[in-house]
Amino acid sequence: MRLIETARSARRTVVVLAAMLALLLAAIGFGPSAGAAEDTRPVVRVGVLAYRGAEVAAANWAPTFAHLSKTLPQYRFEMVTGSTAFLTAAVAANRLNFLITNPGHFLELRIDYAATALATEQDMNGSYSDESVGATILVPADLADVQIVTDLRKRRIAAVARDAFGFRAAWLELLERGVDPFRQTDLLFVGYPVEGVIDALRSGRAEAGIVRSCLLEQLIADGTARPDEFRVIGRKPSGTLPCQVSTRLYPGWPFVKVAQTAPALAAEIARALLVMQPAGGEVVWTDPVDYRLVQDLYRGLKVGPYALFTPLGLRDFLWEHRWWGMVAATIAAWWIFHVFRVAHLLRRRTRELQRAHEQARVKGERMEHTVRLSLMGEMASSLAHEINQPLAAILSYARGCERRLDAGIDPEGVLEGVRRIAVQAERAGSIVKRMRDFVRKHPSQQLPLDPSRVFADAIDLFEPTARGRDVRLEVDIPSTLPRVMADRLQIEEVVLNLLQNATEAVSGVADARIAVKAEAMDHVVRLSVTDNGSGVAPGAIDLLFEAFFTTKPEGLGLGLSLSRTIVEAHGGRLDVDIDTPGATTFWFQLPLIEEIARV
Ligand code: ADP
Repeated sequence: MRLIETARSARRTVVVLAAMLALLLAAIGFGPSAGAAEDTRPVVRVGVLAYRGAEVAAANWAPTFAHLSKTLPQYRFEMVTGSTAFLTAAVAANRLNFLITNPGHFLELRIDYAATALATEQDMNGSYSDESVGATILVPADLADVQIVTDLRKRRIAAVARDAFGFRAAWLELLERGVDPFRQTDLLFVGYPVEGVIDALRSGRAEAGIVRSCLLEQLIADGTARPDEFRVIGRKPSGTLPCQVSTRLYPGWPFVKVAQTAPALAAEIARALLVMQPAGGEVVWTDPVDYRLVQDLYRGLKVGPYALFTPLGLRDFLWEHRWWGMVAATIAAWWIFHVFRVAHLLRRRTRELQRAHEQARVKGERMEHTVRLSLMGEMASSLAHEINQPLAAILSYARGCERRLDAGIDPEGVLEGVRRIAVQAERAGSIVKRMRDFVRKHPSQQLPLDPSRVFADAIDLFEPTARGRDVRLEVDIPSTLPRVMADRLQIEEVVLNLLQNATEAVSGVADARIAVKAEAMDHVVRLSVTDNGSGVAPGAIDLLFEAFFTTKPEGLGLGLSLSRTIVEAHGGRLDVDIDTPGATTFWFQLPLIEEIARV
């Protein structure tokens, strides 16, 4: 056996040297097909996966290239060696016509670049073409405590790369025996060439190594490894393949056609490959086999073209997107905080506003009451005088009755006297009642009412004051007016304010007159109070309705501003008209009920 291996290795060395010589001669112009003229034959570029480095790849595939060059001399074949990534990039850039690569890489190219297999390698050692590639798990022979696959847990395992076909074949095998290499072992990827795995084992950097099937046998045959140096873990039946393997066997390497390559050329190559005889090398080509087993491997591992279709579990998904998740969670937390804060501020502001509103209302009511008291103060002496009259009458009727009773005569006259006393007492009582009503505090309440009655009541209350000051009141109020929605006492207060101001304006004027006129106009009832007094002081016109503006030494400056607030709260308007010389008219208007209902 040792002899056979040595002979084989020597033969391979000769083939390699021959191929290199042929390439060298071709390069310097002594090649058989190269004449003095430039070589104008079309170039056929064939990529070759060099998992053991460019030199070994060139040696391995030299017989195939020699055969193709001989059978199809009209083409110049060029070998392009490289890793899977390099070759994929070359295919993507359309720089290759064919490839010789491992089944896994072919599967990716088939799915991503519509590549097809023209032929499958068949090792002339006797293996079947569909059972010729697998992986072998090696440990140093003296590592006694690793005997079976499960002993690999927590061990440092060297492999070429995570996308190497051999590693993937072993990965599935480990998984099926309950060992997840990525979670339960310590993986060390050494990169191409595969001999790096052997170096890692020898240097002690790894306790186990995953290599392509038959590598161990090749190394032993080459004399680069001792037969007793390594032990194979998890051996599986290898069929006709004369190598120890730790995984199931997959089809051999395919000769791959790239999608863009002309079918005619592909057919020529396929024909040439199938008639190739083993001329010193061990590899020949057969019809392409079914690569579904490789597809199952990749699908099972969810790698290569199937990586995208991996349904992620919720945990994996969350872990994968944890940074975005944290950003989103921070934004959401900030947003929720912001919403709550805004809601809280809104509630607080609303409460503050309600409180301020309530305070303003109470202040307004107080002010209104103050103005009423002040008005009543102004009218008090005339009203006292007004009450005096019925009281004096009562007194004189009472005396008359007394006299008649003393004289014992005229019971009819006494009766009449008593009746008159009652009338006068009622008159005095009604004056007092109206005064009390006017100054009493009451909540604002707007009701439907006839404004002519309210105006007349206010004028009645004011009449004694006007009389006491020698002011002639000219009243023009219709007995009924369209109804308005109003607070009786507030409107009375507005009328009394205007009358009081007018009386003060005409004080000292010879023929003092105040004309009060009420009328129904378009959609409103309007009351105007016109006096022939001194008129509005120059420069005061813009300030009249400001609170606390007064030109009177003892004035409050609240009457007009308050009256305007009241009228506006009724949906009306209060203003002054000074256009007519010698006459100042303050007027206000209130909307009719029908008008309010229409709005
Ligand atoms: P007060 O009567 O206490 O001064 P008002 O707000 O009622 O407060 O009036 C403000 C000012 O408007 C008065 O001081 C006065 O100068 C002016 N005014 C009001 N009514 C008249 C009027 N009929 N004629 C002229 N000026 C007036």
